[in-house]
Amino acid sequence: LEPAYSFMIRTRTPGGTVSPQQWLKLDAIATTYAERGLRITTRQAFQFHGVIKTELKPTMQAINAALVDTLAACGDVNRNVAVAANPLQSQAHAAVHAQAAALSEHLLPNTRAYYEIWLDEQRVAGSGEEEEPIYGQAYLPRKFKIGFAIPPYNDVDVFAQDLGYIAILDDAGELLGYNVTVGGGMGATHGDPETYPRLGNVIGFVTPDQVIAVGEAVVTAQRDHGNRAVRKRARLKYTIDDHGLDWFRSEVERRAGVALAPARPFGFLHNGDRFGWADGEDGRAHLTLRIPAGRIVDGESADGAQVRHLSGLREIAQLLEAEGDGAQFRMTPNQNLTIAGIAPALRERVDALVAQYGLDGYRQASALRRNALACVALPTCGLAMAEAERYLPAFVGQVEALLDRHGIADAPIHLRISGCPNGCSRPYLGEIALVGKAPGRYNLMLGADHRGQRLNTLYRENIAEAEILAALDPLLAGYAAQRQPEEGFGDYLVRSATVAIAAHNARPSIP
Ligand code: SF4
Repeated sequence: LEPAYSFMIRTRTPGGTVSPQQWLKLDAIATTYAERGLRITTRQAFQFHGVIKTELKPTMQAINAALVDTLAACGDVNRNVAVAANPLQSQAHAAVHAQAAALSEHLLPNTRAYYEIWLDEQRVAGSGEEEEPIYGQAYLPRKFKIGFAIPPYNDVDVFAQDLGYIAILDDAGELLGYNVTVGGGMGATHGDPETYPRLGNVIGFVTPDQVIAVGEAVVTAQRDHGNRAVRKRARLKYTIDDHGLDWFRSEVERRAGVALAPARPFGFLHNGDRFGWADGEDGRAHLTLRIPAGRIVDGESADGAQVRHLSGLREIAQLLEAEGDGAQFRMTPNQNLTIAGIAPALRERVDALVAQYGLDGYRQASALRRNALACVALPTCGLAMAEAERYLPAFVGQVEALLDRHGIADAPIHLRISGCPNGCSRPYLGEIALVGKAPGRYNLMLGADHRGQRLNTLYRENIAEAEILAALDPLLAGYAAQRQPEEGFGDYLVRSATVAIAAHNARPSIP
C-alpha cells in the first residue's frame, strides 16, 4: 500500500492550438482520467489535474494518441511557446504560429527518456549515447519562456517572456520579421531585493529566416552564463543584469552569426482578449469565449455558477469535426478560448450551441471580470501563500461594487491575483494586482498600463480585503472624476503621481 498520489499533467501545445479532433480526444482523456475537466493555463497549455499514479501511463499514451505531447512542458528547458491568439490577422497568425511551432520543436530536448518511460520504447536508462547540442549535460539553469506577439495586441505579454518576438507586418499584413526582446520574467521572492519582476529589452530586428538561429543563441548563452549557484537568480533576466545588455546582445550575435538590425516601430493597444465574434481577413469568423479561470467543466465553474461548458464545447467540436473545414480551437494566454476559422455558414449553429450551453458569459460579465486573471494557487499549488483563483470572483464582485458606486461600472481595468510572488498570472503587469503574502493577506500592486509595457509597483504591503478596498476606493473616485478620454486606470495613477514607476520598468512603443 502507498498513499493515493495524484499528479498534474501539462501539455505542450505551441500557441495553444488544437484541431476539433484533438479537442474531442483531450476532452475524453479529461473525462476519463482527470479530476475537473480541462484547464487552460496562462501559457496556452492544457492541464489535467488529479490524475492518479496508476493511471499516469495510460493518460500519457492517450495524450500521445491525440498527437499532442507533454515534452518539456515543465523543467529547466524551454516551456510551451506562447503565440498571440489574435484572430483578425489570419494570414500573419498562420505564419507566426508556424514559426513558433518550429522553434518549439527545435528547442526540444533530444532525450528518448519520455518515449521510453511513457510510450514503451523499451530502454529506460543508461544508453549514454544521447547528445543534447542545445541543453548539454545539465540543461538550463532554470525554466525558459518564449512568446510571439502580433501588435497591436499583446495578449502574450511579450515583455514578460525570457525571449520575445514582436511581429512586424507591412501595410498588406505580410510578415516582415520580428523585434526581439530578451530578459523578461515575473517571478520574485518576498523580502529579497535580489529578485524582482523585469520587462524584456528590445535588442533589435530579425528576419523570419533568422528566428531559430537567434532563439538558439539566446538559449545557449543563458545555458552557459546563467547563474547555477543561486537558483533564485538563475533566470535570464538576472544574467542580463549581471553581465549587461550590450554584452548579451553581442553574445547572441556572435553565437547566431547574425547582426541584429535596428528595432522597427511597434506599439500595443492592450494585453487582454477580444471577446465575441470577429471577422478575419480571410472571410472566416472567430469567436472568443470567456472561460472563468480557464476551467472547462460540467459542474461548478470558477465563478461559482453551475455550467455545462465541457459538454457544450464537445458538441461544437463535433460539429466542427464534421463540417468545420479547418476550424481550430485556440487557447488564449489569458486562459480564454478562441474558436477560430469558422465558415460563415456555420456561424448560426455555433452561436446556438454557445447560447444553449451558457458559453456566452462574456456578454453579461463586466469589463473588469472579463479581463481578470488569477493563478491556480490553493489548494492545488504547493507554493501558494494565499488564495487566487478561488478568491477572484468574490474580490471582483467587491471591486465591481466600488466601480458602480463611482459611476464607472464599465471601466476596463486589468486586475490580476497571484497566490505567491512567483507570478504565474503575470500580476506585475496588472493595473490592479494582489500578490499573496499569507492566508487572506496580499501586497497591493498598482500602476501597470493595460498594454503589458509597464510594470506596476508596491502600493500597500501585506493587507487584508477591507484595507485593500479602502485603499482602492479613493483612487477609483479620483479616476472617475479626473480620467481623460480612453485613459486607463494605471495610466491615470501614474499621471496623477499617485504611484511612481521607475523608467527601467517601462518599455515605450517605438513610433
Ligand atoms: Fe504560481 Fe505561486 Fe500561483 Fe502557485 S501560487 S500558481 S507558484 S503564482
